[in-house]
Amino acid sequence: AKQAGRNRCHFYRRDMNEQAVRRLEMEAALREALDRGDFTLHYQPQIRLETQRLHRVEALIRWTHARWGAVSPMEFIPLAEECGLVGQIDRWVLENAVAQLARWRADGLVVPGMAVNLSPERFAHGDLVEQVRHVLAVARVPPGDLTLEITERLMMIEEVSVHDTLDALSDLGVTLSIDDFGTGYSSLSYLKRFPVGELKIDRSFVKELDIDAANRPLVRAMIQIGQSLGLTVIAEGVERETQSRMLKADGCCMGQGYHYARPMPPDAFADWLHAWNA
Ligand code: C2E
Ligand code: CA
Ligand code: CA
Ligand code: CA
Repeated sequence: AKQAGRNRCHFYRRDMNEQAVRRLEMEAALREALDRGDFTLHYQPQIRLETQRLHRVEALIRWTHARWGAVSPMEFIPLAEECGLVGQIDRWVLENAVAQLARWRADGLVVPGMAVNLSPERFAHGDLVEQVRHVLAVARVPPGDLTLEITERLMMIEEVSVHDTLDALSDLGVTLSIDDFGTGYSSLSYLKRFPVGELKIDRSFVKELDIDAANRPLVRAMIQIGQSLGLTVIAEGVERETQSRMLKADGCCMGQGYHYARPMPPDAFADWLHAWNA
């Protein structure tokens, strides 16, 4: 009966099967891309709302496939997580982003810090702390200049090893930032249990901040939670001046979004920074 069900499923849900085929193809392509080094990084500025100066940049991965063109990380990162490839990808991102920071600095560019995204799966690898230490040492980048963006999902993993790893990273001096804050879980108790230094208010709250009045109290509350715990608060997805003004008025210290700049390749970022500082 199960088999018949599967066949019927196959018959009626043809589109889903096509999706499954694409996933298999994509998994193979991801492995190939890792081998061949087909990924690139784009960099998006994070701006201090008070001074309008550059605070840091976030490294965002890009993948252009020969046949499919640009594949969004929203599509391939979850897939990479499922098939156990995300650890290798994040490792590549960390190395290359930190190396890029060192290169900009060698070129005389003032870039105060770098933020990279880390998947929860990355924490299963015991060597994360050692690797972060190593990458920073090789590039001669102080740990204080690196932020690791992690999601609330990781905070819910009740494993001693995760807790120890977060502690060790914090001891090393890197900043831990809670990405997509407000979207994951209702429990905030992890904020006092883990050595978090930053909250990143999710784009979905910022999106209609200046359109739908219901959003502002929520954003304000998130900023206050951060402030009362002594955390840096950054808003993502800032697309308009009005949003930026509201966030600043409510005490948010940092903003990131198209209003300031889109994610850019390294050279375009250098040009952007020169113009921004001019
Ligand atoms: P995220 O970490 O929340 O990154 C922010 C996303 O919002 C980026 O999408 C960025 O391009 C986009 N964005 C920035 N400003 C604006 C804005 O003003 N308006 C709008 N509409 N969007 C804005 P992107 O680059 O497509 O990345 C999507 C997600 O993929 C990231 O979300 C992150 O979860 C994941 N990701 C990207 N790079 C990496 C990586 O190197 N490692 C891991 N593990 N995940 C990554
Ligand atoms: Ca992020
Ligand atoms: Ca985010
Ligand atoms: Ca997000």
